[in-house]
Amino acid sequence: MSVPLKIVDGLQLSEAHRAALRPGEILDGRSLPRFFYEVESWEQAKATQLTAHFALSELMIVDYRECDLLLREFPHYVPCAVSILARYLEELRQRVEAPIHIAANGGYRSPAHAIAPGIHAWATAADICRIGTTWIDTPADIEKYGAIAAAIGQEVWVSSPAESDDHLHVDLRHVVCEPAP
Ligand SMILES: [Zn+2]
Repeated sequence: MSVPLKIVDGLQLSEAHRAALRPGEILDGRSLPRFFYEVESWEQAKATQLTAHFALSELMIVDYRECDLLLREFPHYVPCAVSILARYLEELRQRVEAPIHIAANGGYRSPAHAIAPGIHAWATAADICRIGTTWIDTPADIEKYGAIAAAIGQEVWVSSPAESDDHLHVDLRHVVCEPAP
C-alpha cells in the first residue's frame, strides 16, 4: 500500500545534496526543481504506486553514471513532477494496451548525472525501451509509438528515430506547476 511520501524543500537539504541536485538553479535557461519526494529505501519506492501500474521505483532507476551520493545513499530525492509524468505514462499504457518498460537512467536523472540530464533533470521525461514484448529499437516502432504518445496532448513531446535509435523518449514541455506554499 502506498503511504504519502515526505516532501522536502531542496534548499533545506545538506550542502552535498544541494550541490548535486541544484534546487532552483538555472539550467539551460530554466529553473531546476526545488521540491522533492524523500524516498527512504528501495522497498518504499517499490511500494509507492504513483498510478495503478507505475511504481515510483521504475522512474528513478540509475546506474553508476549517477553521482555517488545520489546513487548509493538514502534517502533519495525525486522531483515531485514525477507524479505527473507517471500519469501520462499510465494513459499511454492504456492506449497501447501493454506494459511499458522504462530504461535504466531513463526516468529521473539528477543535474549531476554523467549523461547530460537535459529534461530528465525535471523528472518530466521517460525513455521507453520496451512496450509489451516489443523492444523499441527500430525507426518504425519509435515512430509508431511516438505518434500514439504525442496524440495524448499538446504538452507531450516525443523523440524521432534520428534523435534516439534504441528507445522512445517522451517528455512534457512548457507546463509549469507551482507547489502549494
Ligand atoms: Zn530521454
